[in-house]
Amino acid sequence: MRDRGSFESMNFHGAESDDPLISLFTELVRIPSSSGHEREVMDFLTTRLRGLGLAVEESDPIEDHPEAAGNLYCRLPATKSGTPVMLSAHVDTVASEEGALPHPVVEEGVIRSGSRAVLGADDKAAVAAIVRVVEEIVHGSIDHGGIELLLTVGEESGLRGAKASSLEGFSARCGFCFDSTGPVGGLVVRSPSQKTIRATFIGRSAHAGVAPEQGRSAIKAAARAVAEMPLGRIDAETTANIGIIKGGEAVNVVAGRCQIAGEARSHDDARLEEQVTAMLDAISFAATVTEVDVEVSTIDEFHGFDIGGGNPAYDLAWRALEDAGIKPHAASTGGGSDVNVFILKGMSCVNLASGMENVHTSDEYILVESLRQLRRVILAIVARAAS
Ligand SMILES: [Zn+2]
Repeated sequence: MRDRGSFESMNFHGAESDDPLISLFTELVRIPSSSGHEREVMDFLTTRLRGLGLAVEESDPIEDHPEAAGNLYCRLPATKSGTPVMLSAHVDTVASEEGALPHPVVEEGVIRSGSRAVLGADDKAAVAAIVRVVEEIVHGSIDHGGIELLLTVGEESGLRGAKASSLEGFSARCGFCFDSTGPVGGLVVRSPSQKTIRATFIGRSAHAGVAPEQGRSAIKAAARAVAEMPLGRIDAETTANIGIIKGGEAVNVVAGRCQIAGEARSHDDARLEEQVTAMLDAISFAATVTEVDVEVSTIDEFHGFDIGGGNPAYDLAWRALEDAGIKPHAASTGGGSDVNVFILKGMSCVNLASGMENVHTSDEYILVESLRQLRRVILAIVARAAS
C-alpha cells in the first residue's frame, strides 16, 4: 500500500490546478479519444502546437470516417549542435464502458478518472508532458539539438498508427516513448513478440431435435480445439490465450459456424513459432475429428526486442534519468507498444515508464509527482542530447 500521507495535499476537480502540466493533462483526458476516434484530441493538440509557431503535419490515417485522425508530426529545428531526438506517445485510449468519460479528480496528489471511465494516463500523461516541455522550450528559448514529435493514433488497436508511420523524413535516430506502467525510472529492456490466431469452424446446421445426425457442430469443433491447446503460462518466456469464442444461433440448432481468436507471446521467437504451431495443429486436429471445415489466419502483431547497455537511446535515457535525480532501473514487459514497431523501422528507441498504474481499468491512476518527474525526464533527455 502506498503511504498517501507523504504526498502533497492537493484536491481539485477538472483543470483548476495552477500547474500548467496538470491542467493540460486533465484537459486532455476529458477529450474522448478511443482508438480510431482521435479527431478531437488531434485537433486540440494541432491548435496548441501551431499556437507556438510550429509546423504540424498529420498523415497516415488508419480509418476513414469523420472521427478518425492520422499521426501527428511536428519538428523543432535544432538551435545548437547535438543529437536530434524523437519524442513519441500515443493519443488514443482504450474505450470505456458505455462511452463513459473521465471527470478527473486530484486528491492527495493522486489523479483518478472520477467516473467509471478509464483515466487515459495511458498515454496522455506522456502526451501532456511532451507538449508542456515543447511549450517551455519554445517560450524559454531553451537550446536543443533538434526535436521531432510523433504522436500516434491506434496504438491500443494493434499499434496501427506506428505501423502506418513513416520515420524516413526524421533526422532523429534516437527515439523515446513513455508508455510503460510503473514508477518513473523504469526503462523497458525486453518485450515479447506476439502473434494473433483466428479460426472459423464451418460445420453444417441442422435441427437439433429433428435431424441432429445431419449436422456438424462448429461449436463442438471449436471446443475440442481449445481443449487440445497448450494455453496459459507455457514457460518463463511464453504465454498463450484464447480470448474470444463466438458461435451458434439458437439452442435447437446444431451450430454451423463458430469462431475463436487468441494470441501467443514469447521473448524467444523459436518458442513463439512452436507455440503457434501447437495451436494451429490443435485447430486442424479438432476440425478433422469433428468433420468440419476451418479457415485460419495468423497475424504478426509485433516483434519483440532485447536491448541494454550500448543502445544509444537506452544509454541516453539512463543518463537523463540520473540527471533528473531519478534512479533508473531496467524493466521487462509482457506487452507491446509503438516502440516494438519503431525499432523494427530502424530507430534506436526506448520505452520509459510514465508512472501510470492499473491501466485499461476504471481504477487507473497517476501521481501528480509522476507527471512532474516525467516532465523533468523529458527536459533532461533534450538537454543531454544537446550537450
Ligand atoms: Zn499505452
